[in-house]
Amino acid sequence: MLTETSPAANGSQSSTQEPARITLFAAMPWLRSLVALTLFCDLLVTLLTILQLFLLSKLLTQVFLHHPTFSHVSSLLWLLLATLGGHALLSGASEIVAQRGTIRVKAVLRQRVYAHLLRLGPASVQNERTGELAATLGEGIERLDAYLSRYLPQLVLSVLVPLLILLVVFPFDLLSALLLLLTAPIIPLLMMLVGSSAERQTRLQWVALTRMSAHFLDVVQGLPTLKLFGRGQAEQERVARISDAFREKTMSTLRLAFLSGAVLDFMVAMAIGLVAVMLGVRLLAHGIALQDALFVLLLAPEFYRPLRELGAARHTGLEGKASAARLVEILNQPLLVQDVPFATQIPSGSLEIAFHSVEYTYPDNTQATLRDIELTLPACTCTALVGRSGAGKSTLARLLLRHMECGQGEITVNGLPITALPIEVWRQYVALVPQRPYLFYDTILANIRLARPSASENEIIQAAELAGALAFIQRLPEGFATLVGEQGTRLSAGQAQRIAIARAFLKDAPLLILDEPTSSLDPESEQAVRLALARLAQGRTVLLIAHRLNTLAAASRVVVLEEGQLVEVGSPNAWLRRERVQVRPSQRGEEIRL
Ligand code: ATP
Repeated sequence: MLTETSPAANGSQSSTQEPARITLFAAMPWLRSLVALTLFCDLLVTLLTILQLFLLSKLLTQVFLHHPTFSHVSSLLWLLLATLGGHALLSGASEIVAQRGTIRVKAVLRQRVYAHLLRLGPASVQNERTGELAATLGEGIERLDAYLSRYLPQLVLSVLVPLLILLVVFPFDLLSALLLLLTAPIIPLLMMLVGSSAERQTRLQWVALTRMSAHFLDVVQGLPTLKLFGRGQAEQERVARISDAFREKTMSTLRLAFLSGAVLDFMVAMAIGLVAVMLGVRLLAHGIALQDALFVLLLAPEFYRPLRELGAARHTGLEGKASAARLVEILNQPLLVQDVPFATQIPSGSLEIAFHSVEYTYPDNTQATLRDIELTLPACTCTALVGRSGAGKSTLARLLLRHMECGQGEITVNGLPITALPIEVWRQYVALVPQRPYLFYDTILANIRLARPSASENEIIQAAELAGALAFIQRLPEGFATLVGEQGTRLSAGQAQRIAIARAFLKDAPLLILDEPTSSLDPESEQAVRLALARLAQGRTVLLIAHRLNTLAAASRVVVLEEGQLVEVGSPNAWLRRERVQVRPSQRGEEIRL
């Protein structure tokens, strides 16, 4: 079965091919500058902190040893106040830069991933679980916040800040500097030990979350089917099991995060304690000046702080990293169609389509779905395509829609290969009326206008009239302004189908693909839709995928596909007269059996 491609999707088809491998930084080159700017602000904050602690140690030493008057220490106090103010300002600036930058990153990334999904097209996306994709685009991108604004800068700061502090402490007190140098590697070592399993756990938790989202979407969309088969209770138990599996994954991830956090805090407290004891002993033995000892003692927590903060940011950072990996994977998914920037020639007038030795094999399949297809769709005629289920009818139509490219051979339009046209240009020539049209959660007017956003209200009303939809739309309480649910749940199948036909009228494309548009309709709707389709088909080249005998009445030629190969091309009457298909008038609505 085919799906509709919205003009919005067509409009964003890019004419350029993506490079071989994309990373988050390659996708957004300014992301590097953003992280660098955040780092620069944070390093300035560290320098101010060092200065602040130096002034504090000097002030405390003066107060305790020399009992000065206020005027003696006032300059020190003002300096200290100035550094405190500068510290607050810079910390705020760093936070604002990081937050604003990440908000932009998230918005740009969402657009890029969405644009890439559109470029990948229905043929690639139909192999993905919709709920998982929706979770990645929503929650997954939100999770990048902690990864980009906290975790990534913290990774660099946890190396640079301790190094900076060591450089400052060395000239003041060699012994303390050596002690800091010796204790520092214990923390990253510990993080590395729990790191790999924490990362694995977080990845598993993310996979469990997206699976759960995908399953919920499945269950909500399939609610009528579940009710029909009395599977409500069983499904409830399955949902409970999936939720429980997610809870367990989250708990084990959090357990690991809390455990490593507690061990980290303990190690840091021990290391600071060790420095303090050493300084105390040397102070008693007059081995170090009070101001130097105070300065080093105040600096010691600052030395370990970035590593502790890295530990604290690690859990949410790893969550962001897991979703970043999935986003990068989507961005790197190869395109099934190669686009060209501009057309050498644009076909005009009515279209003749020809398939020349076309062959196609789906990426995961070993056998070709279509083989050696030689077929012409003459201009302004309706060609019916029939064949057993799985014969390759939809695949042939998908190639014509350029959801994917022919493996071998080519399709031409008035002698020009369709691959010589940019995809967005080619799709302006094609309208599709699928078996089950997709209606968006929007007004009827907006749903029809999708086919041509520039259309006036009058043109939309005219298209609805030609599609036989005007009468029922006008009977709705809010007419064209009536909201229809996701997938058109507030309309009957026949009404939704007529909205799809109105779209095709509005698009006014010279090539029309009809995928058995009356298959799920009652006789009354079927008649209305059939009349509308007959009007729509006039003066256009039509490929009609037919599953039912009475659909053939509209066609002037019939083409039979068998296991991916064309076995017959002829007139519908001659084909119907054959022994293979015997129909009594009462059976004309029945499925075609070959
Ligand atoms: P139906 O009348 O039931 O809609 P069809 O004649 O339109 O069937 P296609 O949908 O073109 O048949 O499928 C032809 C073959 O290609 C089938 O064997 C099907 O399993 C396979 N196929 C279809 N889509 C894919 C896909 N996305 N990936 C792999 N194989 C696919």
